[in-house]
Amino acid sequence: MRLVGESQVIDAGTGEVLHVYRTQDEPTGHLLVACGNRRGSVCPACSRTYQRDVFQLIRSGLAGGKGVPEAVREHPRVFATLTAPSFGTVHTQRKRNGKPLVCRPRRDGGVCAHGRPERCGARHDTDDPRVGQPICPDCYDYVGAVLWQAHAGQLWHRFTLELRRQLARRAGMSRRRFDAQVRVSFAKVAEYQRRGLVHFHAVIRGDGPG
Ligand SMILES: [Zn+2]
Ligand SMILES: [Zn+2]
Ligand SMILES: [Zn+2]
Repeated sequence: MRLVGESQVIDAGTGEVLHVYRTQDEPTGHLLVACGNRRGSVCPACSRTYQRDVFQLIRSGLAGGKGVPEAVREHPRVFATLTAPSFGTVHTQRKRNGKPLVCRPRRDGGVCAHGRPERCGARHDTDDPRVGQPICPDCYDYVGAVLWQAHAGQLWHRFTLELRRQLARRAGMSRRRFDAQVRVSFAKVAEYQRRGLVHFHAVIRGDGPG
């Protein structure tokens, strides 16, 4: 799928913008996306179906089709990923030029409060079961992770309410007037990351009157 737009990584606590990415900086002017986080290992056929469904949902939300008018292409819209904060360091797999990088490189060789090394010198394969597991299970905030998971639906709901509130405020409108003028629609999919936490991919679109 080809995406055009920009993404910002924002610290939810401080509002600080940590990272900005714009597709216009790409040589092609767009970004080809294959998320690949869905667990194909569990059931390859289902995950393929799932990805097709998601593709159609996201595509029609952004570009029209499947019952959505094509005029939505002109509407303000965002493809956003909402991700949990960190609950502690986990084993990761990152690649450069197709080769796995060292998981947690650290020169100082520090240890945590439980005497466990904070580094991991392994280069994990994609199917390595350690990927997504905490570096130290005692340091990891399992309670926070469980609470995030349990409240993910509620958090999403709050997000949709707060977004309308913010948009109305920035447009200088009362909530009532904003709601009468603008319909904000959402299409979202929930996915499991490697660390086992839910994150949401969402198409958010503003549709004006008429
Ligand atoms: Zn994802
Ligand atoms: Zn590791
Ligand atoms: Zn520890």
